[in-house]
Amino acid sequence: MRATAKEAESWSSPTGRKETRSVPTSRTMTPFEKCPVCCGEIIERQVQKLLRGGRHTASITVPAEVCLHCGKRLYSRDVVKRFEEIRTKLARQETEEFQPIGQAFEVR
Ligand SMILES: [Zn+2]
Repeated sequence: MRATAKEAESWSSPTGRKETRSVPTSRTMTPFEKCPVCCGEIIERQVQKLLRGGRHTASITVPAEVCLHCGKRLYSRDVVKRFEEIRTKLARQETEEFQPIGQAFEVR
């Protein structure tokens, strides 16, 4: 008789009570194992993201899960929240805490 995956995740404690192993919580990124777009393999890496708010642009390097096949980037909820904060600050010209790296130009 072979053990199913479900049986492998639980065992009997010394008291005879069945206990279920808790899922490790070290993984804080997106819950995707595969790319939701193309089912490609996903790896975690640092990526540079450009954010625009009003007339300003800001660059930030954040951890993301990147699809090796189609390049789709998946961000954690905290990172997306950070993007929104930065976009709002840019739109309100609250850029004191940001480091200037150069000028942005429009080509006509
Ligand atoms: Zn993909």
